[in-house]
Amino acid sequence: MKILVLNAGSSSQKSCLYEIQPHTDLSTPLEPLWEASIDWTVSDEYGLLKVFANGQKRKIDLPLDNKRDGILIMLETITHGHTKVLSSLDDIDIIGHRIVHGGRSYSRSCIITPEVEQTIKDLIPLAPNHHPAHLEGIKAIALTLPQTPQVAVFDTAFHSSIPPKAKIYPLPYQWYERGIQRYGFHGISHGYVSQRAAQILGKPMEDLKIISCHLGNGSSVTAIKNGHSIDTSMGFTPLEGLMMGTRCGSIDPAILLHLMDEYGYDYGQLNQLLNKESGLLGVSQISADVRSIISAIANGNHQAQLALDIFTHRVTSVIGSMIPGLGGLDVLIFTAGIGENSPLIREQVCSQFSFLNLKLDREKNQGKCLDRNIANPDSSVAIITIKTQEDWAIALQTLPFCPKES
Ligand code: ADP
Repeated sequence: MKILVLNAGSSSQKSCLYEIQPHTDLSTPLEPLWEASIDWTVSDEYGLLKVFANGQKRKIDLPLDNKRDGILIMLETITHGHTKVLSSLDDIDIIGHRIVHGGRSYSRSCIITPEVEQTIKDLIPLAPNHHPAHLEGIKAIALTLPQTPQVAVFDTAFHSSIPPKAKIYPLPYQWYERGIQRYGFHGISHGYVSQRAAQILGKPMEDLKIISCHLGNGSSVTAIKNGHSIDTSMGFTPLEGLMMGTRCGSIDPAILLHLMDEYGYDYGQLNQLLNKESGLLGVSQISADVRSIISAIANGNHQAQLALDIFTHRVTSVIGSMIPGLGGLDVLIFTAGIGENSPLIREQVCSQFSFLNLKLDREKNQGKCLDRNIANPDSSVAIITIKTQEDWAIALQTLPFCPKES
């Protein structure tokens, strides 16, 4: 069975092709047959497609003006050139898409029908950085493989267990009845890394009090108790919570009223300000990318230092706010681009929790630390850096919908 996964982020498009045999062990991620990623932010003039298959790498520059064409060029590398792994795209049995927001209608994975596609469109205002990219992917596949089923795997589903006290905003109750509530995001990642952490520790997930920090361009923290999400930092949209690459995260809502009242800001301007011009980019005025921020700090840039300080302060504050709800902490997980790759940020965050006898092993933190416990042996809390395998988790959730499965 061949499953193609499309995972569109706010600045990237990742894709993998998995082959699952009837007796494949599904407890650990398979190596994909073919994988590709598009980074839409490398240049103002082009996007960069990187493909890896058959031990071969390809790099292709893509036009920025039509992302759907970029996805079609990406798919062509499955059947052409050194990265060819299939003779025809028709050999793909099913496609799984990561969809950021399922609203209230979709709290579990489902086949993408015209109605589901319309709902994804309707939810663009709630996930403006992601849903247009998801729709480009769905359209590109519908053009190329009109008969092949496509599945939506929602990032909100893992958080459907969050109890009312953490889910409902302190607004008049009728707004909750109209769908205004905390939905939470990165659920595919938080779900996968919490299971993987339990596996690494050799303990049942149900016995662990876990805080998972998914720190990438978009970032969120989730508290997981008895295997279920009980609280998460993102809310009604992926804008709430931590400071992010270009998103501000939580701010006093009265700032918006002030900008409207005193400066005449309208919806479009506020949307641009909060989603695209804030966060690490907004404060540093340099970049949304932690790597550029860290190099600017090395060159003595104070605004870059301030951006990093605010970022780690907010991660720390959110982690701290979730510990009472869990009744303690057994495992702290770091994942996604920053969580997996920045020893500096892991160290700064962990140093704030020494009062819990949480102790990071500095050497393990600097070395190859993916999918390992990097805490000191005498630490009361395990600290685990996990490579998020969203694509594999999406493939697993797509598998039951495969026509050959039923
Ligand atoms: P997305 O939300 O787009 O999926 P990712 O999880 O891929 O984001 O994370 C991308 C971010 O990870 C980059 O913007 C950068 O800030 C950070 N990152 C990647 N590599 C490193 C590194 N070696 N050191 C520090 N940060 C890194």
